[in-house]
This record gives sequence, C-alpha cells and structure tokens, in this order.
Amino acid sequence: MKESVPEIFGSMVFNDAIMRDKLPKDIYRSLKKTIEDGRDLDIAVANVVAIAMKDWAIEKGATHFTHWFQPMTGVTAEKHDSFISPQNDGRVIMEFSGKELIKGEPDASSFPSGGLRATFEARGYTAWDPTSYAFVKDDVLCIPTAFCSYGGEALDKKTPLLRSMETLSEQAIRILRLFGNTDVKRVVATVGPEQEYFLIDRTLYEKRKDLIYCGRTLFGARPPKGQELDDHYFGAIKPRVQAFMKELNFELWRLGIMSKTEHNEAAPAQHEMAPIFDTANIAIDHNQITMEVMKKVAKRHKFICLLHEKPFDGVNGSGKHNNWSMITDKGVNLLEPGKSPHENAQFLLFVTAIIKAVDEYQDLLRLSIASAGNDHRLGAAEAPPAIMSIFLGDDLDAILKSIESGMSYSGHGTSKMDIGVHVLPKLPKDTTDRNRTSPFAFTGNKFEFRSCGSSMSVSGPNTVLNTIVAEELMQFADELEEAEDFTDALYELIKRTVKEHKRIIFNGDGYSKEWEQEAARRGLLNLPTTVDALPRYLEPKNISLFKKHRIFTEIELRSRYEIELDAYSKLINIEGMTAVDMAKKEILPAVNKYILQLLESAERKERLISAGFSDRIGETMEKELISMLSELEDTAYLKVNELEELLSEASELEKSSDKLVTAAFYKDRVIPAMKELRGCIDRMECNTSREYWPLPSYGELLFSV
Ligand code: ADP
Ligand code: MG
Repeated sequence: MKESVPEIFGSMVFNDAIMRDKLPKDIYRSLKKTIEDGRDLDIAVANVVAIAMKDWAIEKGATHFTHWFQPMTGVTAEKHDSFISPQNDGRVIMEFSGKELIKGEPDASSFPSGGLRATFEARGYTAWDPTSYAFVKDDVLCIPTAFCSYGGEALDKKTPLLRSMETLSEQAIRILRLFGNTDVKRVVATVGPEQEYFLIDRTLYEKRKDLIYCGRTLFGARPPKGQELDDHYFGAIKPRVQAFMKELNFELWRLGIMSKTEHNEAAPAQHEMAPIFDTANIAIDHNQITMEVMKKVAKRHKFICLLHEKPFDGVNGSGKHNNWSMITDKGVNLLEPGKSPHENAQFLLFVTAIIKAVDEYQDLLRLSIASAGNDHRLGAAEAPPAIMSIFLGDDLDAILKSIESGMSYSGHGTSKMDIGVHVLPKLPKDTTDRNRTSPFAFTGNKFEFRSCGSSMSVSGPNTVLNTIVAEELMQFADELEEAEDFTDALYELIKRTVKEHKRIIFNGDGYSKEWEQEAARRGLLNLPTTVDALPRYLEPKNISLFKKHRIFTEIELRSRYEIELDAYSKLINIEGMTAVDMAKKEILPAVNKYILQLLESAERKERLISAGFSDRIGETMEKELISMLSELEDTAYLKVNELEELLSEASELEKSSDKLVTAAFYKDRVIPAMKELRGCIDRMECNTSREYWPLPSYGELLFSV
C-alpha cells in the first residue's frame, strides 16, 4: 500500500468534498439544501448531479450503477445496470440521468413483503437517500436508496429509520427550545455499531454443511480447551489475522468507513471492529457494507468470516453493540453531561425520557433484536438477558434518587436540589467498572444497546429507539410548554417520571439467576425467544405509537410481523433439514464404519487368542466401545427420524395455520428434537476415532488459525 491513509480515505465515495469540487456552485448549494432540509430534489438539479456522479464513477472504474437498498432480508440488494446507451452508428456512450439517480423500479415481488404484496402492486420503487453518499464498490456506482411499494408502504429497513430520525429531531428541538435554544435546526441520532465476528479456516469450513447452510455448527463436542483461560481477549493478533485486518481497514477506509478499533474478542477465533460513530442512517449503511466487505476480504485470506450470533455451542457468541446518542447540527451531544447547571438539567431531562421510553416499550426493544440466531445468545450468561433494563452507573443513579426523594445530592448542601440552579457533579466518563451485563448501559455520553445480534441490520433497533424516545420527548414538551414556572415543572416532571419508571433501572449483574426473579417481581417483561417477542408488534399501544409518529402504518407493522415469523420458521427448517442430512449421510455411516473396524479388531484378537498366541490380549475396549456406540447409533437413528417427521409436520402446518402457530411449532418441537439429536451425536464424537469422524472438530475450527 503506497498511498497514505488520508489519501485513500473515502476515495471511492462521492462525498461532500467531491460534490463541491465537481458540481457548479448553484447546483451544489441546492443539493446541500435538499439534504439539510430533507426536501425533494429538483429534476434539473438531479440531471446535473447525475452526470457529475457518472463521470466521477467512471474515473473510479465503474461501468454500472445500482440503487443499493436494504430489503427485509436483512442483507443489502443491488441490481446492476450498465451506463451504456446505444448510438445510431452501432457505438455506445456512457449515460446516466437525473431520473435514474432519483428513482429506480426494481421488481418488488421477489423480496419479502408480508401481506403487502397481496394488497398492493408487485412493483416497488427505490428513492435516493441523498443524506448517505453514493460510492463505488466492485466497479459499480452504488446509490443508497429507500425501497417502497407503489402505495408508499415501506418494503425496507431504511424508510422507517429515516422517518424515525425525522420525528426524533422534531421532538428533541421542542425540548431544546424550552431551554432557550433558538438556533438548532436539526437533531440527529448517532450510532456507533461495534461488530463482532469469527474467522475460521476456509478449508475446514467447506467440510461442514452446517456452517455452509446455516452459518453455525449444529453438532460439535466441546474441545479440551475453550475460552476459560481468557487468553484471547485483547491478546496479540496472529499474523494471518493481522493481514486480514489490514486489508479490511484499507477496503473500508476507501469506502469512507471509519474503521477505528480492532481487537481479539473473548472467544478463540473471535474478533471485533468498531468504527467511529456517525449519523444513524450512514452508520447503518456503513455497517451493512462492513459485514459484506468482511466476508469478501476473509475469503481472499482463505478464511471464512462467520457473522452468526452463535456459531459454536459453549463458546461466546457474537453481538453488535449499538452505541446511540443524539447530536445537534451545532455539534452538541445531548447525552453529554454539561458544564453548567442549565445544560445538566437538559441532560437529565433527556436521560429521564430515555428511562421512561425503555420502561414503557421494553417489548419493542426486545422484539427489535429478536432473531433465531440471537435466541441462542440472549440470556446465555455471556450476553445481556432477554429482559430489558437500564444501567446508569452509581453517579447518575444517585443523582436521580436524590431528585426523586427531594433530598440533596451528597456534597451539595442540605437544601432541596434545584436542578436549574445547582451545579451537578461532573460525571466521570468511561468508568472502569463498566457494567457489561446490562442490555442498555449509559457509558458516559451515550447509551450502549448491547443485545443486538452480530448478523442483523441495526436499522430496526435504532428505528425503535428513535421512535420511543421521540414519543417521550413529545409528552414532556407537551407538558412543559404549558407550564407556568418552567423550572418547577421540570423538576416535578423528572421526579415523577423517575418514581414511576425506576423499576427499569438495574445496576447489578444482569447474567445472574437472581436478576431474573427480581425482574419478575418488578413486573418487567421476560420474552425469552423470538416467537414470544414478535407478537408484540401487534400490541395496540405499539401500533398506535408507530402510527402517531408515522413510522409504520398498521399494515406495514403486520407485514413486518409476518415477514419475521416466516424468516424464523424458514431458518429453523433449514437447520433441521441440514441436521438430518448430516446425521444420515455423514455421521451415522462414519460411526458405523468405525464400529465395523472395532468388530474386525475384536475378531482378529479372538483368532489370535484361540490360536494360542497369548492370553494377555484383551478386547475390553472394543467390546465397550461397540456396545456404547451401537446404542448411541440406534438412539441417534430414532432421533433423526423423529426430527424428520416433525419437519414434515411443520411444513404441513405452514400450509394451513397461522404463521405464529408454525413458528411456535418450530420453537417447541423442532428445536428440542434437534438438541436431543445433537446430544447423542456429540457423545459419539467424543468416542469415535478422529480418523473416522467426518467433520472438523471444534478444536480444529477454533484453534487452527
Ligand atoms: P467499548 O468496546 O468499550 O464499548 P469502543 O471504543 O470499542 O468501546 O466502542 C465505542 C463505540 O461507541 C465506538 O463505535 C464509538 O464511535 C461509539 N460512540 C462514541 N460516541 C458516540 C456517540 N456520541 N454516539 C454514538 N456512538 C458513539
Ligand atoms: Mg462496547
């Protein structure tokens, strides 16, 4: 790599600097205005922008363009169109119009749409999100877009996110105005997603159908060494991994993605990349690209990058910590405790709104992180529990307690603490006793939503966060705007809200069994699986929340509910089929061969004994292994047939029943059957010769890099 990092950074992005450079002044100004005010782009302006964008992209090697969007599959989608346009003389020129830039019309019928497809036209359209820059990836000009049906219903993950950012901005500004701020025009949600992943050797991966089809192992006995020595976390990075990370950074930097931190994670073969935070929609676009680039670069280094939430049983899974805050267009972080009492009062009001939001919408936060993969992780004593709670840390907790009780905060005299007048103590940032067991932790100047799964788009969780916080800010603004004495009203509001919602605050160990009981006593929701969580989409309070803020219509919500249930059932079905396939075609025949070999060995020994060779030759090992393995083999055979039957029952159910019934069948019947089969097979693995076992072991997968 000859160029310096600043030189390559963003070199494949049609960013602000490039636009200023390549666009006529008036066009640039008008585009900027559109971006800042969220208005529709004028077609005349779009035409000029399109030409500049195309010329720039061609310089970067692009031959095609695509509207890059995020359908409900969780991954991104692109359909490439080349720039070529035929001329009368048989030649072509490279063309790209404003119309093509602004709007695309991919066929919507092949993307998940829930009930929407039946109700509306199959056609959908994509619309440029000019707040997220276009970029060139693999010789294609990618234009970040939102994806809607012709009726305007959202078919993707970006549309609701953008809507939620709007409403958050609107309501946060109302609060700022109450504090005398007159110049802020926009407040944006900021997101910094820390991405965890596993790297395993590609040749080993290719020998395992479970990894190929499901992205996780369905079988596998524990290796002699796991993560118990804690020698991987922050450990020295191996050269081969280092080479991967170097190239990953280079690729990400070229795409303007601020990859900042890299380190080994807790489990062997597990790593993390954290970017510098950005505006929510850009951070999420970037995270989607990051996951794609990670997989691609891994292959070049003969690795496979596993983004699944739980690739290996008994080994820590992967998450995506979603750091979230709000920042004004003047660059002020609203979750940064201020220096003046005035700023602190404002800070406390925002924190209080978040406390109320998390308490009242525990279910929405829970369902926003629900997926079949994440179910293996949540509550597994390695990741936050499925119960939502907030960690505030001792200082902030003490401040809120003192407001609630009307007592002074220690060290601040004896008078009732008047948050509008007294200076709050400086809150230490990044205290070392950071609570890592909380699903939603305050970390000094932002909240860290730690329950998100590593493979998921964090669009959903952030859409929920923005919306629920906007709702509370709206209620607060409604109340405070009417107040006669603002300071008194503010104090009373914070006091009352803390009193009503303090049950959601928990600073203890979220992994402990006691917390589960304590949370139940407090009346907090515990929705252990995706199937328990998803029906909450349809709670009347949630439907009216989303309708009120124009994030989702009821129809859109129902469609999402169905899409996600469907995805769950399909995924478990694939896992079940894969387990059956591996057991029948690979594992059972292999064990059988080994049993035969043991039999032969026993027979040979017997012949030797009867030929009078020696009475010292024993057959205990053969006999015991044969009987143990034969028994396991028979049980596994029964289990695999049971599983197969359940799978065909499930597909019958799918035809006739409600999607929730089918998903519940997969959860309650299929998953336990898979677990039982696995139990059998893992015991076989422990007792079968390495030479005969058809799959790379956990030890090889986790420690061979
Ligand atoms: P840790 O692993 O200790 O949580 P990291 O430094 O790995 O810390 O990750 C912190 C993440 O939080 C980074 O992605 C960082 O950019 C992000 N972050 C910092 N400030 C904000 C903010 N105001 N809004 C959103 N994310 C933020
Ligand atoms: Mg973190």
